[in-house]
Order: sequence, then structure tokens, then C-alpha cells
Amino acid sequence: MPQNPLHDPSSRSSAFIRFGALEVRITERGYAVFALRPFKRGELVLRVMGEITDEQDIYTIQIAPDQHLQPLPPAKFLNHSCNPNLGVKTSRDGIPDFYAFRAIASGDELTFDYAMTEYEIVASDVVCRCGAEQCRGHLGAWRTLPTAWRERYRGFVADYLLDMPL
Ligand SMILES: [Zn+2]
Repeated sequence: MPQNPLHDPSSRSSAFIRFGALEVRITERGYAVFALRPFKRGELVLRVMGEITDEQDIYTIQIAPDQHLQPLPPAKFLNHSCNPNLGVKTSRDGIPDFYAFRAIASGDELTFDYAMTEYEIVASDVVCRCGAEQCRGHLGAWRTLPTAWRERYRGFVADYLLDMPL
């Protein structure tokens, strides 16, 4: 059996898979996605592909009130941050693709705020360990996101959220 390099215990440095300008690595916090080149604010970083499902899980990205996307790697391994460097813009086919929310340097971990796509999170009281100075302390969602954050994320959240009741 060929060994999956993501599970190769013999070398930490070989534990990665490249996707063009991005790379998935295993870190102390689990899988994470890193940039291999700089991106400017507003630049497309990652198009998302995956299957549509009606059930939310820890990997899915919400695309409509009752629709979620089960993303393929590397999008599957994007971690949440309360101070993210990615945001989303909904494509013409209704899929939220990832764009640089602020300037990204080569080597930076790529993160987005799950509240940029999730209207509600089933386990929204899960403690957030993103480590950002402005960490909200728990994994929130759009419905309960403070107004100041919604303003800050303007233009970088899933389109369907703008039509949802608050
Ligand atoms: Zn946080």
C-alpha cells in the first residue's frame, strides 16, 4: 500500500500535500493549509469544489439555508480564526470561493471565520482556540455575530447570509 504522506510518521517535514500555491500540512493543531506565495487583499486564493449535502458537519461550508458543501481538500482543511486572512465571495454557480481578506505572506496559515459562511453552528458553544488577540472565545456563527464583525466582513461573506433573519 502506498503510504499517504499526510500520515507518514517518519518525517514531520514530509507531512504535506501541495495544491498549486497552497499546501496542506499536519501541525500541532491538526491539518492546516498554508500559502506558498503572497496574496494581495481581494485576490482569489482558492476555488471550492465538493458535493452538496443537506447536513452540516465540522467540514461543511454552508451555501444556502438548507444546503451545505462537503469541500474537497485543500478547502476541507482550512481552520477557523477570529482574525482570518481569508473571506468568501459567492461565485455565479452559488459556491463560496476563498479570497484574501487581507494581505497574505508566503508561509502564512490560511484561515477564515466560520461565521462568514455558517448561519448557525450546531455546536456553537465549542471553545475557540484560534489564538487571535480578538478571539471571541467560542465558535460563533453569522446569526449571533456582533454587528461590528458583520461590518468588518462586508463583501467577504456568503451571499445567502445577507437575506437571512437576524
Ligand atoms: Zn477564536
